Amino acid sequence: MAEERRRRALVIGGSTGGLLAAHHLRRRGWDVTIFERSAGDLADRGAGIGTQPDLFDVLRGIDIKFDDSHGVTIDERVCLDSHGEIIARYAHRSVSSAWDRVYRPLREAFPDQLYLRGARLVAVEQTGATVTATMEDGRRETGDLLIAADGGQSTVRGLLAPDIAPRYAGYAAWRGVIEETDLTPVEHEKLFNRLGFCLPRAELMLGMGVPGRNGDPRPGHRRYYWIWYRVAGKSGALRDIFTDATGRDHGTSIPPHLVREDVIAEIKAGAARTLAPQLAAIIARTPRPFPSAIFDLEQDRLVFGRVALLGDSAFIARPHIASGVTKAALDARSLARSLDEEPDIDAALARYERERVAYGKSIVARARYLGAHLEAMANGDANTPEQNPETVLREYARA
Ligand SMILES: Cc1cc2nc3c(=O)[nH]c(=O)nc-3n(C[C@H](O)[C@H](O)[C@H](O)COP(=O)(O)OP(=O)(O)OC[C@H]3O[C@@H](n4cnc5c(N)ncnc54)[C@H](O)[C@@H]3O)c2cc1C
Repeated sequence: MAEERRRRALVIGGSTGGLLAAHHLRRRGWDVTIFERSAGDLADRGAGIGTQPDLFDVLRGIDIKFDDSHGVTIDERVCLDSHGEIIARYAHRSVSSAWDRVYRPLREAFPDQLYLRGARLVAVEQTGATVTATMEDGRRETGDLLIAADGGQSTVRGLLAPDIAPRYAGYAAWRGVIEETDLTPVEHEKLFNRLGFCLPRAELMLGMGVPGRNGDPRPGHRRYYWIWYRVAGKSGALRDIFTDATGRDHGTSIPPHLVREDVIAEIKAGAARTLAPQLAAIIARTPRPFPSAIFDLEQDRLVFGRVALLGDSAFIARPHIASGVTKAALDARSLARSLDEEPDIDAALARYERERVAYGKSIVARARYLGAHLEAMANGDANTPEQNPETVLREYARA
């Protein structure tokens, strides 16, 4: 009897979403190749991340060990005022982690020969039950399924659904990490195992202890991670942040080493003007803060023939709910299960779309609610009320 042909999936994007999908499908017998446009290692790009129990569950399902001991336990949320005094508290246990800590084990457990770097997709063609991807260098690859895990500015989505695009929310998030050993003992005691908020008008900052380089969770080897949302308004201010010293405009994200010194100096000065002194001091000592513009993306379709959108290419929920990686993990598991349980690929994709559209819309709405103050300020709504510290702590804990 002739051996049955293995089904083949082309995964575009080798970040957390792509790797999660690739692992899940390989375990179910698929022949999977990842095409990642970056030529270098992605591992160093990451900052801290909040985690959700679902993420641990999905990782364990593909035999990647991940539990609370791999992160930093956060016991309490506090809000500091502009003098550095704690003005609100909320007891809530969570575990912070680092992007590296999720990416690295996924990458190490995936065969090198099936993870192709420097492979940028530029075109997609479909004929009936097959899909062909063309890379920038002319290479063409055909499979039964193409998974677009190529992020918020997805090339695949742009080719198949050009009318759907992320919507800028009017503000940016500055992020940075500083070594645990570079905190003063007082800062460490007050902030490291807490999620510390500060809520100046039109801004929201939070910070927490996270694992260190290569996901190292050992005391003394960890890092403090902060994220500071600031209204950036319309395109002019945003363009300034994302323009490097040579005058090149990088759009809505910029490699950290290219952020201009004068932009960083302004951020540090701004922190000293509005934030709690402890937080401003940490920002002042952070080597290379970097910005990301904040977007929403939602849509009704995730499947276009034999192409499935997954992770940030499908939905972007603003980072207030810290669930981008978890959502990508749940997308990957849902897709793999659907393909496993439905013998017909098209029927499986339809099921995947049904499941994930509903979930995606719900988290986008939740994240928008948490960012409503910032968005209203960006829109110049002078009647926007101050952020209430108790409410913010409670609502973020429910995210
Ligand atoms: C400010 C901020 C804070 C965040 N905080 C958190 C948090 O605390 N917790 C959390 O869970 N998530 C957080 N996220 C979200 C999280 O980073 C993403 O949701 C997560 O990385 C899943 O992304 P992805 O794999 O779908 O896409 P990405 O990580 O964007 O990866 C897309 C990959 O595709 C590659 N690619 C792009 N185009 C092509 C192409 N044409 N051909 C080949 N490859 C291509 C890219 O190089 C990249 O490697 C945050 C995001 C931001 C902006």
